[in-house]
Amino acid sequence: MKADLATKYDLRVPRYTSYPTAPHFTEAVDGTVYRRWLSELSPGLDLSLYFHIPYCDTLCWFCGCYTKIVRRYEPVARYLDILLDEIDLVADTLGKRSRARHLHWGGGSPTLIKSADWQRLSERIHARFDVGPDAEIAVEMDPRDTTREYVEALALAGVNRASIGVQDFHPEVQEAINRIQPFDVTERVVEWLRHQGIAGINMDLMYGLPHQTTERVVKMVDLAARLKPDRVALFGYAHVPWMKTHQKLIKDETLPDFSERWRQSEAAADRLVELGYLRIGFDHFARPDDDLAVAHAEGRLHRNFQGYTTDTAPVLLGFGASAIGSLPQGYVQNTQPLRTYREAVTFADFATERGVRLSDDDRLRRDIIERLMCDMTVDLDALCQAHGMARDTLSDAMRRLEPLTEDGIAQVDDGRVTLTAEGRPFVRLVAAAFDAYVNKGEKRHSKAV
Ligand code: SF4
Repeated sequence: MKADLATKYDLRVPRYTSYPTAPHFTEAVDGTVYRRWLSELSPGLDLSLYFHIPYCDTLCWFCGCYTKIVRRYEPVARYLDILLDEIDLVADTLGKRSRARHLHWGGGSPTLIKSADWQRLSERIHARFDVGPDAEIAVEMDPRDTTREYVEALALAGVNRASIGVQDFHPEVQEAINRIQPFDVTERVVEWLRHQGIAGINMDLMYGLPHQTTERVVKMVDLAARLKPDRVALFGYAHVPWMKTHQKLIKDETLPDFSERWRQSEAAADRLVELGYLRIGFDHFARPDDDLAVAHAEGRLHRNFQGYTTDTAPVLLGFGASAIGSLPQGYVQNTQPLRTYREAVTFADFATERGVRLSDDDRLRRDIIERLMCDMTVDLDALCQAHGMARDTLSDAMRRLEPLTEDGIAQVDDGRVTLTAEGRPFVRLVAAAFDAYVNKGEKRHSKAV
């Protein structure tokens, strides 16, 4: 039945790392608004910090991130100078030195940053924010660029979690996505990380890539598990060549069709569970003693721009071109072109280009969608009561849920919506029923499965 549903619901819906989602941000939220929102924050609120490094040295053809390919280090070094200025600008506006509990370096490829630059970035962040010894400092890593010395520099900068991009280990798949990364390259980096005491290891795997088969995907999971990551993220390749033109380099005929893509996602997930991982949300897996699994079991799991997280900080500050921040008042996003980002910050201005101010309705729906995405169930009555909103507010969503309940994807009982065991992979569709902005027919998002 599930494969039939997968074919029937071959729709494109958001991944809900925010609500409203980024395509609905507008220019009504600019640098002036961001400055005011920052200055309105109560002193003492916990912060999360996200730093975006939009550079890579080669282009992976499947890439969906915002990045620029560089052959020289000079543009990266200049960008880091601007990033330091932005850190000062935000810290000055906040006034009081606030506690940062989570730091995340993403990209692009933060692995391009040279050791000496890690040191100056780390010093500035510690000077402007209160980064305690219990803070999680996570870095997205490309093993192809990583050296032993580099891992030492990360350890010195206090990094304690590494998120390793793998995708697949099969040579034919790697060639088709222009990312040659033999198994032993990844294995060596994992050894260096553990040797340096960087104990938190996440691994990103993918299905739906060119030349992948169900058999190859299971083999990919087995190889990844050999390296004993604490967490595995299993993403479906989002083929959106109308948005990411370089993806045209991937030939359509090499991609698995919808049913095969479905089988791959199921086979990889089943294998991870057989190997002792717990399924977290719709695309993450964690060892039972990992913090993410514990938070999931205790109903404390959250979702942010990095996916599932234990992070409970009410404020996420985004630094760098295209970075998104989340504040109690709403979301803000920096401008994407590097030149406009650089010009804004050079003139001591915020590079905020767009965002969204949250309405009461947005806050209610955001909480509903987050609980669905994290727990696969949500108590609508309790959340409406907590937000002081009438249940009628959700009548549009209840109508959109009807076909999904008829197809056995979700059940509605006593004001509680729960994904069925079969419906779980379709959680994004159920979440989309509560999305007042979504237009399901548009080719704007990746496939629901
Ligand atoms: S390393 Fe990551 S960000 Fe850079 S091109 Fe490859 S997938 Fe994209």
